[in-house]
Amino acid sequence: MKLVYLDNAASTKISARVVEKMMESYSENYGNPSSTHKLGQKARATVEKTRNLIAGYLGVEGKEIIFTSGGAEGNNLIIRGALNAYDYKGKHIITSKIEHSTVLKTCQQLEREGYEVTYIDVDENGVVNLEQLKNSIRKDTVIVSIMYANNETGVKQPIKEIGKMLENTSIMFHTDAVQAMCKEIIFPKDLKIDAVTVAAHKFYGPKGAGFVYLDKNFLIEKEIWGGSQERNRRAGTENVQGILGMGTAIEEAYENIHEIETREEKIQEYLEKRIKNEIENIKINGEKSPRLKTITNLYIKGCDIQTLLIALDLRGICVSGGSACMSGAHEDSHVLKEMGLSSEELGSSFRISIGKDTTIEEIDYFVDNLKEIVKIERGK
Ligand SMILES: *Cc1c(COP(=O)(O)O)cnc(C)c1O
Repeated sequence: MKLVYLDNAASTKISARVVEKMMESYSENYGNPSSTHKLGQKARATVEKTRNLIAGYLGVEGKEIIFTSGGAEGNNLIIRGALNAYDYKGKHIITSKIEHSTVLKTCQQLEREGYEVTYIDVDENGVVNLEQLKNSIRKDTVIVSIMYANNETGVKQPIKEIGKMLENTSIMFHTDAVQAMCKEIIFPKDLKIDAVTVAAHKFYGPKGAGFVYLDKNFLIEKEIWGGSQERNRRAGTENVQGILGMGTAIEEAYENIHEIETREEKIQEYLEKRIKNEIENIKINGEKSPRLKTITNLYIKGCDIQTLLIALDLRGICVSGGSACMSGAHEDSHVLKEMGLSSEELGSSFRISIGKDTTIEEIDYFVDNLKEIVKIERGK
C-alpha cells in the first residue's frame, strides 16, 4: 500500500547521510569519551567537534551547548535547573497556555512543589499576549519560557519582542525551539534568548538526541547527578553516535535551509489552496499568524477527527490529531482550546505536517482521499 507520511511534527525520517555516518561510527568509535586512552580520545573528539559545529551554526560558544536526550529532557533541565540554581531569587515562572506538554506539565508539577506559575493567554490566532506577559513580570520571576513555534498550529511566537522585553533583567528567557530548529536560522544572541531546547528527531536526525543552549552568563543545577559530563550539568556517558547524527542532520539542513523553506512553502500553499477550493466549511487554525511552512492545522466541519484519522490511516496516510504525545487519549487540544475553538471545532480539527521530501503527488493523494472521506462522513 502507498504510504504518505504527513506527521513530520511528531518525528521525521532519519536522513540517509545521518544513518551512514552513525553506522560507520558505531562500529569503530566505541570508546567512552571520558576515557583517556586513544579510543576515548577519539570519541571525545567526535563529541567536541560536533559541539563546536552546532555552536557555530547558532553563533554561540561550544561551552554553551549541553547535550541531552531530546526535547522533554531539555525543557525539564532548563526550567527545573534554573529554578534550583536561582532559588534565592524566587519561585515564580512565566510560561504560556499553549506550550508543549513537556513544559506545561513540568510547570504544573512545579506548582504542586510550591512554585508559582503565570500562564499567559493567546489570542484567537494563537499568539501570546505580550502586554499580559509584560505585566506578569515580578521581582521574584526566575524564568520566562515561551515556545518559538507551536507544534500543533505552527504559529510562531513574538520571540524577538520578548527577548527585548527581558534583555536588561536577570530573568532567564528560555524558548522551546524543537519545531523551529533547522527550519529557520536562529541566532539566540541576536534574539536575546538565554536558553534554547532542541531535539534531533524533528529535523531528520536520530531519536533520543538533543541539546540545550545556555548562555554562559546563566547557571542551571543538574537534573541527572553522578558524573561530571557536560561541564557538570548533565551526568551520563555522552550519546556519541546520537550527537554525531544530530550534528550531521544540522549540517545537512543548513546547507539548503532557504531552498528547503521555499520548497515547503510552495507545498504548503498548494495543500491549503486545494483544500480551500475543494472542501467546503473548513478553516485553517492560526492561519492569520506567521506560521512554520511545515504545519497546517485544519478544522473540517461535521467530521469526527478520530474517525477521520482512522479512515486516512486505512488509506496509508499518517497524520495526527494534535500533538503525538496526546494521541490515544481522546483529549481535546489545549492549544486550540486556548485559541477559543468551540467543542465541536475541537473535535473536528487535526494536524498535517509536511517535510522536506513531501511531494505534490503525495499532497494530491492526501487531498483526493480526504475529500472522499469527508463526503462519506458528512453524508452520514
Ligand atoms: C516533539 C517536541 C518536544 C519533545 O521532544 P522529544 O525529543 O520528543 O522529547 C518538545 N517540544 C516541542 C515543541 C515538540 O514539538
